[in-house]
Amino acid sequence: MTNNLLNFCVLASYNLRQNGSFGSDMMITASFHRAERINGLEISEIVQISEQAAALKSLGHDVVSLSTGEPDFPTPVHIVEAAHKAALSGKTRYTATIGLWDLRSAIAANAGASDAEVIVSTGAKQVLANAMLATLNPGDEVIIPAPFWTSYADIVTMAGGRPVIVACGMEDGFKLTPAKLEAAITRRTRWLMLNSPSNPTGAVYTPTELRTLGEVLTRHVNVWVLSDEIYEHLNYVPFVRFADVLPELRDRTLSVNGVSKAYSMTGWRIGWGIGPAKLISALATVQGQITSGACSIAQAAATVALTGDQSLLCERRTELRARRDRVVAALRAMPGLECPLPEGAFYVFPRITGAMAQLGHADDATFCRWLLEDHGVALVPGRAFGVPGHLRLSFAYSDAELTKGLSRMANALKGLR
Ligand code: PLP
Repeated sequence: MTNNLLNFCVLASYNLRQNGSFGSDMMITASFHRAERINGLEISEIVQISEQAAALKSLGHDVVSLSTGEPDFPTPVHIVEAAHKAALSGKTRYTATIGLWDLRSAIAANAGASDAEVIVSTGAKQVLANAMLATLNPGDEVIIPAPFWTSYADIVTMAGGRPVIVACGMEDGFKLTPAKLEAAITRRTRWLMLNSPSNPTGAVYTPTELRTLGEVLTRHVNVWVLSDEIYEHLNYVPFVRFADVLPELRDRTLSVNGVSKAYSMTGWRIGWGIGPAKLISALATVQGQITSGACSIAQAAATVALTGDQSLLCERRTELRARRDRVVAALRAMPGLECPLPEGAFYVFPRITGAMAQLGHADDATFCRWLLEDHGVALVPGRAFGVPGHLRLSFAYSDAELTKGLSRMANALKGLR
């Protein structure tokens, strides 16, 4: 048999098995079925921009990226050493699905909760996903005040729920009001997702604001609250935890937190949820079939992060506050931008509609693409957070990078009114 004939036979029998026919052109085409649950979901715009900036850099372009949400500080040495020690001493095995007891009890003690009310996951993001997968039935609604962290709506959609986006503009300090909350609640509402300090605006809810939202929630006993407090410790005004202000709602509150931002441990992937034991047990059921327990070595390191010297939190907060003040002053001096003062986290979220209109940019995405391609500075358009007409700049970057990025922006906008 010649090689050609042999190839023909192999292809023909393959097609016969796959398609029940010899196929007209004898091409093998693998079919791929994308699940309906991820219809309309794409790689996050933050990741896309960061990857575009990295690609331009690798081609030799001089690009300053102020787009990602992670501190530029290294993980503190004593935490890295704890991981090293844990690995050498054999803490390299599966842990309980809900996490190492040491870490869970440190988290519980800190929150005034019991161990049974704590689950450790592979990042705060996994807690969010577990919670939605464990509690939503098709069509159940989740209220998400916008601007919101890009993943919220997609996680809800992926879990079969319906994100109900409530616009909270600059005039409201980017915060949900009781009237807007009341108007958004329906029979199908299962959760309200709150994030304070906020990504992308840096807004921090005061105790009074939380209490007024609590008054509405008290009337709607089927609505649970997911309070994402991952930027706790990165606050420039007093910060309060939802569950501490509203203990009467603890039996339907899931507090989400982790070591990623405060301790510069984004890559270690340790987050946690604190909530009623029955909810935590449902989250463990989901997690047990996806990742099992989080990385044993990272859990040992996170335990030391929480129980060791906390003075670094104050030092870093002071450093970030200085950067925030510099960045906001520089942005306020640029024509066409309006820049509120963030009260927490490490982002600023200026309105750019004035600059867009004068430069003829129809939307914030083309404006950000222009800044990247023509001026070498990568920023994320507001539409990625559900509020077009803004951009998000992260100031968790070195002074040198901030100076360079800001002067490129000033140069791009010079001459505007
Ligand atoms: N929640 C918010 C508001 C965030 O901004 C992020 C990360 O950017 C996360 C959760 C996820 O944190 P983790 O790294 O612990 O998964």
